[in-house]
Amino acid sequence: MTDIDSSRRTFVARAALATAAAAAAPALAQEGQKQPGAPTAPRAADYPKPPFPVQQQPWPGLASQMTPRPDHGETSYKGSGRLAGKRALITGGDSGIGRAAAIAYAREGADVAINYLPAEERDAREVVELIRSTGRKAVAIPGDLRDEAFCQRLVEEAARELGGLDILVNNAARQQTKPAIANISSEDFDATLKTNVYAPFWLTKAAVARMGPGAVIVNTSSEQASDPSEDLVDYALTRAAVLNFTKSMAKQLAPKGIRVNAVAPGPFWTPLQVSGGATPEKLQKFGSQSPLGRPGQPAEIASLYVAAADPALSYSTGQIFGATGGGGQPA
Ligand code: NAD
Ligand code: MG
Repeated sequence: MTDIDSSRRTFVARAALATAAAAAAPALAQEGQKQPGAPTAPRAADYPKPPFPVQQQPWPGLASQMTPRPDHGETSYKGSGRLAGKRALITGGDSGIGRAAAIAYAREGADVAINYLPAEERDAREVVELIRSTGRKAVAIPGDLRDEAFCQRLVEEAARELGGLDILVNNAARQQTKPAIANISSEDFDATLKTNVYAPFWLTKAAVARMGPGAVIVNTSSEQASDPSEDLVDYALTRAAVLNFTKSMAKQLAPKGIRVNAVAPGPFWTPLQVSGGATPEKLQKFGSQSPLGRPGQPAEIASLYVAAADPALSYSTGQIFGATGGGGQPA
């Protein structure tokens, strides 16, 4: 757990950011199409397309070890105070879509706590520096969400460190490709359900007890909710469960003034995919099935997490915000 107050540490963090941002510059910079770390918005047309280099990491994987490195908006996201003064907890905030949301939330004026697995400390450190470099408070709380007691402690600690909780982003998930149902062990099924369904349930329960009117819960679903792949049986059903959970909780919490929305991504270039989430064959042509012909970069979905939590969208609850590259989205 960490926080930042002094300007000296902010300066140090800025220096670290320059390094982190340069190192974290997306594939187009690595290909020499733009200066590393240049604060210009990447052009979507420059984002990498398949085929991708063959690569595999042990679960849960690190963004810093991917080729090309995902673009989480490190050098490009510009905020405009849409979440000023908000206090947010984001699970899986170390990498991928959660990291992009964490960067965007901080630049929109929110203090941010992130949760991740201890094995992801290296990715998480980069995110902490990126949040601090905006002058916002960053709180890092590693731990395994498959444990109910930890989920309760996580919400308690985040709320204590941030001085309250306005936004919970349920984003962490486990995805492991399995060719046939015979290959999905009860342990696999349990781990996927615990991470992807039980944890959002436990976290929501703990968060609601601390939330007041104006608070928002943002869940992460997927186009897999309505169009499941044959090799993602256990994972896909959890994304459908989250969609349904979003809609019931939106109705239940509306009288309390708490909104509940979900974001539904299509194929995104993140560690989840290179650490067992996709077969090596699928990974090489990842995103080619979508009408845009490439995977999304986490930076391209961050604004939807902002929108889902933005107080300006106060009539939007039970909504599903999509970014699927043209492949449709869950109804
Ligand atoms: P990611 O690997 O960057 O993020 C997933 C995170 O989940 C990890 O960083 C890890 O911190 C966390 N996590 C997993 N198991 C955990 C556990 N037991 N305890 C604590 N944390 C745990 O990948 P991502 O693709 O950015 O995934 C974020 C969300 O996006 C997930 O909900 C996923 O279902 C959803 N999604 C991703 C895609 C895609 O193509 N990448 C498509 C649709 C939906
Ligand atoms: Mg990660």
